[in-house]
Amino acid sequence: MEKALENLKSVVSERARDIDKNNDMGDLINKIKDSGILGLIVPEEYGGMGKGYYEACIAGEELAKVSAAVSHSVVVHGIAVDALRMFGNDDQKREFMPKMLRSFATIAITEGRGGSDVGGAVSLKAEKSGDTYILNGTKTLITNGMFADTFIVIGRTGEGSKGLTAFLVERGDGISTTKINLSGMRGSGLASVRFENVQVPESNVLVGEGKGMRVALGTLAPNRIPFAAMGLGIAERCLELAIERAKTRKAFGGTLSDLQAVQFMLADVAVEIEALRRTIYSIAGNIQDSSYEGAVVKILSAKVAKKAADTAVEIFGGHGLNMSSDVERAYRDAKVLDIAEGATEVMKLLIARKIFS
Ligand SMILES: Cc1cc2nc3c(=O)[nH]c(=O)nc-3n(C[C@H](O)[C@H](O)[C@H](O)COP(=O)(O)OP(=O)(O)OC[C@H]3O[C@@H](n4cnc5c(N)ncnc54)[C@H](O)[C@@H]3O)c2cc1C
Repeated sequence: MEKALENLKSVVSERARDIDKNNDMGDLINKIKDSGILGLIVPEEYGGMGKGYYEACIAGEELAKVSAAVSHSVVVHGIAVDALRMFGNDDQKREFMPKMLRSFATIAITEGRGGSDVGGAVSLKAEKSGDTYILNGTKTLITNGMFADTFIVIGRTGEGSKGLTAFLVERGDGISTTKINLSGMRGSGLASVRFENVQVPESNVLVGEGKGMRVALGTLAPNRIPFAAMGLGIAERCLELAIERAKTRKAFGGTLSDLQAVQFMLADVAVEIEALRRTIYSIAGNIQDSSYEGAVVKILSAKVAKKAADTAVEIFGGHGLNMSSDVERAYRDAKVLDIAEGATEVMKLLIARKIFS
């Protein structure tokens, strides 16, 4: 794993600015597929590396140091693999796990009507006809949507949150995508994905009809830990860049790093990074309550990454706002951590549920 990650990091680091500028990974997609990293948490019996959340955190953190967008793509692919690992039956795993080794997958929950209120907002229709479901509707803000070959789609088969069902869907006839132009995580294949009379065999339902909410929430909860590790990587890179800059930027007869005010700004960031790193890896190695712990690290990670990026931009001064600078990109990427895979306020609901229980 370490070798695959190091090789990939060096390729990605050369392209990170172009990925952001073009909102496109280009042929890097094939290099990621060839690197083997997509098989990180695919069980060994299906040809994967068989790793767990701890290693997924290392991958999320290390890739985010060079490109948060690439890290996000790999982390979201891991969410889809994990949904299959946790909720798929043997036949489904035998069929789909090998595909996920070398091609991207994603999870498609969010729709235009809202991403936070999954039970209320999902309207993608999944109508049963014999032993097939016909899917009609549009998902939006889907990471890897532009290039994923496998989608875990949450569709509506009935009323309320018990009327949601999770489907394994292969890209094919009736699926079309439109790229989304966000300010952060640019290049992660974010798309609206339209499903038009897409036929899905009944055998591709995960767990059973009406269990879609369980699949969505059960998968997202532990995977917020690798997601948080992405924020750790962003923060660490920002601190490193800010220290380098402070040590070399001349001002007032010395360097910025001679100024105690600057030292203290970066010391504050270092303290928060240390706390975040230890929290993430202690939780990832021993998950007790994924709903609560995932929410805690996700909130902490967004806070630390935003503060680190904000501080780094400050240290770089006007140059930190240049759109070709790495700290400016980190500033935009860090904000995504507050929203994707569950908004910070929704994470607080999960935490409140636990502390008031
Ligand atoms: C870069 C990126 C990648 C993404 N990738 C994926 C993906 O791969 N698959 C996928 O399915 N989705 C994905 N999403 C969607 C993401 O999960 C949603 O954006 C998120 O859940 C919030 O939904 P929303 O954007 O519809 O905001 P809304 O649900 O409209 O919420 C807007 C805001 O209202 C507040 N709010 C909402 N509910 C509450 C509440 N109960 N209490 C207090 N405040 C509340 C929060 O501040 C929230 O940010 C991605 C989003 C981004 C930005």
